[in-house]
Amino acid sequence: MLEPLETGPACGRWLDQLAGELERLEGQGLKRVTRAVQGAIGPEVVIDGRRLILAAANDYLGLAGDPEVIEAAVEAARSHGAGAGAARLISGTFDLDHRLEAELAGFKGTEAALVFSTGYLANLGVVTALTGPGDAIFSDQLNHASIVDGCRLSKAERFVFGHGDVDHLDRLLTEHGSRFRRRLIVTDGVFSMDGDLAPLPELASLARRHEAMLVVDDAHATGVIGPNGGGSLDHFGLKDDRIIQIGTMSKALGCLGGFAAGPAVVIDYLRNTARPFFYTTALPPAVLGAALKALDIVRRRPERRERVLALARKLRAELTGQGWSVPVGETPIVPVIIGDSQDALAASARLNELGIMIPAIRPPTVAPGTARLRIALSAGHTDQHLARIVEAFRTLKEEMGL
Ligand SMILES: *Cc1c(COP(=O)(O)O)cnc(C)c1O
Repeated sequence: MLEPLETGPACGRWLDQLAGELERLEGQGLKRVTRAVQGAIGPEVVIDGRRLILAAANDYLGLAGDPEVIEAAVEAARSHGAGAGAARLISGTFDLDHRLEAELAGFKGTEAALVFSTGYLANLGVVTALTGPGDAIFSDQLNHASIVDGCRLSKAERFVFGHGDVDHLDRLLTEHGSRFRRRLIVTDGVFSMDGDLAPLPELASLARRHEAMLVVDDAHATGVIGPNGGGSLDHFGLKDDRIIQIGTMSKALGCLGGFAAGPAVVIDYLRNTARPFFYTTALPPAVLGAALKALDIVRRRPERRERVLALARKLRAELTGQGWSVPVGETPIVPVIIGDSQDALAASARLNELGIMIPAIRPPTVAPGTARLRIALSAGHTDQHLARIVEAFRTLKEEMGL
C-alpha cells in the first residue's frame, strides 16, 4: 500500500526545503509576517494591544472608517444581502454595479466602465483580453505586479522600458513596434512604491505616433490627484478618449474592487472576453454601496484631498531637511529610501516602538538595494500625528546613523 503523500519521505524533504527557504528569507531580512489590526483602519490603529499611528494604509482620504461610507455599506447589505452569489455574468450583477459603473465612467470622463472584483483582476483582465499572440506590450520597469502578471499571462511579447523613460520607449517602439499586429503601452499613473507620476502627456503622444493603445493604472491617483480628484489624466489636463484607465476602489475609496474605464467598445469587449471578469464571484453589495458613497464624498469634499496633499508636502520638506533620501513627488506616498533590507526592517521596528506603524518595503516589491520605509498619509492624520512622525524620524536619524 502507498503511504499517504503528506507523510511520505519525498514530501518530507519537500517540507524541509520550504522550511529552509523560509529560514534563508529570515536571514536576509526578507521574511514576511501578517500583523492583525484590532478594530477599524484609521489614522490610529490598535495592533498587539498597542495604539499606533498608522502611516501605512492606502486609505488616503480616510474613507475606510468614514461613518457615511460605513452606513452606506450596512444599508446595501440590508437591501441586497451579504454576497453576490455568482460571477457578474451569471447572476452576480446588481443594480448597484450598473450605478457604480455609470458613476465611475462619469468621474473618469469616459464612455463606459466595468467593475471587477479587485484592481489586481482588472489589470489581469485588461492586459490579457486586449493582447495576444502577434501583439507587443511596452511596460514601465516599475509597473505594479498585477500588470507584470497580466503581461506574463498574455501571449503577447513584452518589452520593458526604463522607469518613466520616454526616449527609451520611443526607441523600443521604433525598433520593434512595426513587427507586431498591435502595440499596447501600459504604465502606473502614480507609482505605488515611489509615489511619482508617469509622464502621461508624452506617453499619450508616443501612443498616437506609433498607433499604440495606452493603458494607465490609476490605483493610487483616483480620488487623490487632479483638480477634480479624477486621477493622473485630470492632473495633466489630458483629454484623450482612447486612453484606457484602470482604477481601484481599495485605496482612496476606502473599500474594495477594481474597474476599467474607456471607450464603450473596449469595455464591451472586456465584458465579453476578460477571464478575470468571467471566473470570479462579483463584489458583495456592502462593498458596492460603500464605493458609491465614497465616490460621492470624493466629489463633494475636495478639501479631503487638499488636506492629505498638504500634509505630504510638509512631511517631504521636513524629512528632506533632516537629511533623509526622499524622492521628489506630489502624492500622499512618501518613501524614505534606506537601501539595505535589514536596516529598513530595524528602522520600521524602532518606529513601531515609538508608536508609529510604517512598513519596510523590501525586494522583490522594490529593486535590490532600495529597501525603504513607505509612509502613506491620510486626510485623517492630524497636525499632531504629523509632528510625531517627524519627531520619530529625527530620533531614528540620531540613534541609527542611517
Ligand atoms: C494596489 C494596486 C493594484 C491592485 O489593486 P487591488 O484593488 O488592491 O487589487 C493595482 N495596481 C496598482 C498600481 C496598485 O497599487
